[in-house]
Amino acid sequence: MLCLAIESTAHTFACSVISSKGKILSDVRDMYQSNTHGIIPSEAAQHHEKLYHQIIKKAIEESKIEKFDLLAYSRGPGLSPSLKVGLKAAKEYSEDLKIPLIGVNHCCSHLSSAHLFTEVKDPIYIFVSGANTQIIALEGGRFRLLGEALSIALGNALDKFGREIGLGFPAGPKIEELAKTGKYIELPYVVKGMDIELSGIVTSAISKFKKRTKKEDLCFSIQETLFSMLTEVTERALAHTGKTEAVIIGGVAANKRLSEMLSIMCKERNAKFYSVPLKYSGDNSVMIGYQGILEYLAGNRTKNPDIHPYERTDSINVNWKY
Ligand code: AMP
Ligand code: MG
Repeated sequence: MLCLAIESTAHTFACSVISSKGKILSDVRDMYQSNTHGIIPSEAAQHHEKLYHQIIKKAIEESKIEKFDLLAYSRGPGLSPSLKVGLKAAKEYSEDLKIPLIGVNHCCSHLSSAHLFTEVKDPIYIFVSGANTQIIALEGGRFRLLGEALSIALGNALDKFGREIGLGFPAGPKIEELAKTGKYIELPYVVKGMDIELSGIVTSAISKFKKRTKKEDLCFSIQETLFSMLTEVTERALAHTGKTEAVIIGGVAANKRLSEMLSIMCKERNAKFYSVPLKYSGDNSVMIGYQGILEYLAGNRTKNPDIHPYERTDSINVNWKY
């Protein structure tokens, strides 16, 4: 099977071609960026609107494929204005190419991508993006949320702290760099059962910055604190479920210190640790195509193509096979 796939949930508009054997035949993307602020939904949608024909045509051309079997698109969760452009593009091209359309959940696609890009079979998924921090396991046909960040997600927490100390957006990579020469100072450590709470820690770090604590020390300490909390709940998830694999997915997975902590913890308890390659760890359309094929082969069909801006990962019936 050959699938044309579209991703448009937030900042990135992407289109790719992937086969049911997992071969990536093309992968074209463009990300809305801003030097002055975070994502403004209407601006992101304008970005997608302006570029979608160009991106889809390029993906088709580069794949050298003329006949497709399926068009997969990301139906949500995400920003409505961005999702609407993706839906519109998906409808146009599925009519044009006379191929069926399948809408898939963006977060399930992130989780599925672990099965496309790594050897995992039944892992604890550590999903850490700008907007999501979730510890997940597949149990009884659902992705169960075992733990999550209660107020703001890990990426957002780093970005918010970074913005306050003048690092711009995205701040994660700059914090990682500054942390290399920092020393540890104590910050609050807030684990509540299987959940973690990051906003108070960000506030505390910002107030220490205003009292002239060194940037480098704060960057080092905020990383050590937030990542230790995440590692603690991941270890508990492994212990509780008896699973022996963990995989990290999402933009924050780029951080080497976070991967190091998780991999040490996994090694100590004889579990295997995997990461989705960075290129496919953030938003991309390859994962949407892979998810579309998995679901199509499982018999899922999209009768009324629509967007689902608030669709939860644990509401999806996982009827497909990896
Ligand atoms: P995503 O939402 O999956 O596209 O991921 C974006 C988030 O990843 C942003 O919050 C970034 O600050 C964060 N991020 C990217 N690179 C790093 C890094 N090296 N260390 C920590 N966070 C990072
Ligand atoms: Mg995403």
